[in-house]
Amino acid sequence: MNAPLKNDRVPWLQGPSADSVERAVKCSTVSSEGKNPWRLILLGAPGVGKGTQAELLTERLGACHLSTGDVFRAASKRRDCDQSPAMKAALEYMRRGELVPDSTVWEMVRERRECILCTGGFILDGFPRTLSQAESLKELMETEHLSLSAVVNYELSVDEIVQRLSGRRTCDKCKSVFHVTEKPSKGKGVCDRCGGRLFQREDDRPEAIAVRLEAYERSTAPLIHFYKNLGLLLPIVAKGSPDEIFTRTMDKLADDKSKAS
Ligand SMILES: [Zn+2]
Repeated sequence: MNAPLKNDRVPWLQGPSADSVERAVKCSTVSSEGKNPWRLILLGAPGVGKGTQAELLTERLGACHLSTGDVFRAASKRRDCDQSPAMKAALEYMRRGELVPDSTVWEMVRERRECILCTGGFILDGFPRTLSQAESLKELMETEHLSLSAVVNYELSVDEIVQRLSGRRTCDKCKSVFHVTEKPSKGKGVCDRCGGRLFQREDDRPEAIAVRLEAYERSTAPLIHFYKNLGLLLPIVAKGSPDEIFTRTMDKLADDKSKAS
């Protein structure tokens, strides 16, 4: 299914298991040694299209997409005895509906540090989320004499995000997702794939979105300030189609790189 050179991200998704914390799987990607790889962090509120941009950037830049969300999804499908202690602890917090503490998140990332140090570069998505996580990452990278290329921050007004997210409709049978304006189903309120009924998830109601966005802003404001002070922040307007946003990102990155050299 995958092209031979496409990174399967096994070392990132899997990490070390419970009994062999130091024996992580190695990455199968051919690394681009010597050609100054991209090391990016992606920031952006839910609804700005960060996931799509991460995929497009990964394809173009060749750096590995390291998403902490993907790590959690992969881990929740694995057997308990295959999880490292940090992963077990993180899943336990999530089951209880609690925030995973910084130290546990950092332990999970540290277990996967081979991916951070990889000569192919990386595109971090979902990490760091707090100032303390950002400081831990900075420390690790400094110790290894690595530097970040940029911190890409996708920006969109609250109104626009609400408009985007509140248009989503989910199938009650197969869970396919549609959008009233951007990706409408052929029959109104009916799923194209299975004929199920489309409904608006509780999470996608404007009031719920506003609450989520507020929480996001509160937690990332210090992070944005931190990277701005380091001269690494690259704000990108997340308006328009995914292709337009991608072109804008690539232009800004090229601009940034020429300024730096
Ligand atoms: Zn369906």
